Amino acid sequence: MSYIALYREFRPTKFEDVIGQNPVTETLRRQVQNGRVAHAYLFSGGRGCGKTSTAKILSRAINCLHPVNGEPCNECEICKSALEGSLTDITEIDAASNNGVDNIRDIREQVEFMPTNAKYRVYIIDEVHMLSTGAFNALLKTLEEPPAHVIFILATTEPQKLPITILSRCQRFDFKRISIEDICKTLEKCVEKTGLDVEEGAIRLIARMADGAMRDAYSILDRCISDGESKITETKVRELVGIPEFEYLKDFAELLVSTNTEKLIEYMENIIMEGKNLEVFLLESIKFLRDILILKTSNNISNFNDAEKDAMLSIGNNIESTKLISLISKLSSVLNEMKWSTDAEVTFETGVLRVVIESNEGNKSVENKNNTSFLKNEVLTKLKENSKMRVYALLANSDIIEAEDGLIHIVFNSVLDETSKQYLQQDETKKAIKEAVIDVTKKDCKVKYVFLKG
Ligand SMILES: [Zn+2]
Repeated sequence: MSYIALYREFRPTKFEDVIGQNPVTETLRRQVQNGRVAHAYLFSGGRGCGKTSTAKILSRAINCLHPVNGEPCNECEICKSALEGSLTDITEIDAASNNGVDNIRDIREQVEFMPTNAKYRVYIIDEVHMLSTGAFNALLKTLEEPPAHVIFILATTEPQKLPITILSRCQRFDFKRISIEDICKTLEKCVEKTGLDVEEGAIRLIARMADGAMRDAYSILDRCISDGESKITETKVRELVGIPEFEYLKDFAELLVSTNTEKLIEYMENIIMEGKNLEVFLLESIKFLRDILILKTSNNISNFNDAEKDAMLSIGNNIESTKLISLISKLSSVLNEMKWSTDAEVTFETGVLRVVIESNEGNKSVENKNNTSFLKNEVLTKLKENSKMRVYALLANSDIIEAEDGLIHIVFNSVLDETSKQYLQQDETKKAIKEAVIDVTKKDCKVKYVFLKG
């Protein structure tokens, strides 16, 4: 069985069969039903969430000889030839490989002609953001004055890359990532129809790995089948996709929130040596950190047993939630870099290391802050000991921060009157502060005042 077999076999052929995009498909169905179809559509959303399938359904629905409540009948001559891919009035273009101005010029010439068999000529342009600037301009001219018998369906994963002039000509529909629940249900139906023997845990795991894309879910299941074993177990899916075990994720997460970069490097080198799929590994690690965050904030998580939850919480207790969020977001950027990188191993290792070091520097500055409050108390004590009570009173409502080596910032937290400011500028006052600071830090310093503006 080939890689894409299940996806093809179970591709939705009616609006009502499209998974997880009900508001979009319902609106389109009604438009067809009421004969209020637009001339240009933009379908945006992540890969594998049903954009192209919906575009194909729409292209049949508007041309179908016997539509039923806005759905294509899939049985008339037009629907059949469209399903076979032999209807010349429906053209699918992959802009990733046909992105030049000539490709669009061809369309511009064609659109002038009436459709051959169907009511409308339909152009489905996939990954439309890949078009060159020249091609966009050519397309725009067609979109500005589309002949009544032409409909464009543009699909993209990156709508932000489209010129505003194109966006403004299209009726836009945003497709959502498909939920794990919806993917599970769909896989269960598929398993039932095909008579495959698949463990419930395996289905859940596939749904989780598919990351919102039904196409990916089918392709994982397809790969499991092609292995030839009769029963598809959770363990098998785990092996096939290269999902790391709990222990791996736990150890890695511990290192990510620790300051031990040497151990972290060692660990990452081992992961690389073992030939693990680094993208999957990092993706799973990010999900693991996200689960720790959820556990830390709401305790509402069902994928783990109590012992695992305890281990995760003890990692979570070593890092503030805000920092954990920042860590998750930065690691996601590394994962994205890896997808485009020519050397994923290097990007993985240097990227993760950079994120952890940055995060640790964040920790240090917090420690420094703690030290400066420590510094402030000591300085105040010295001033008191030296009976410099007026300075003491003024500095009590300030922050004393050692900014660079030897430069002490005294930040006053309230607006001071002119008399107090003048008093602070006096040599004798400065000398008293400086002496107190040197007494505490045992090194020379410069003092700088920072006043709030009144
Ligand atoms: Zn039909």
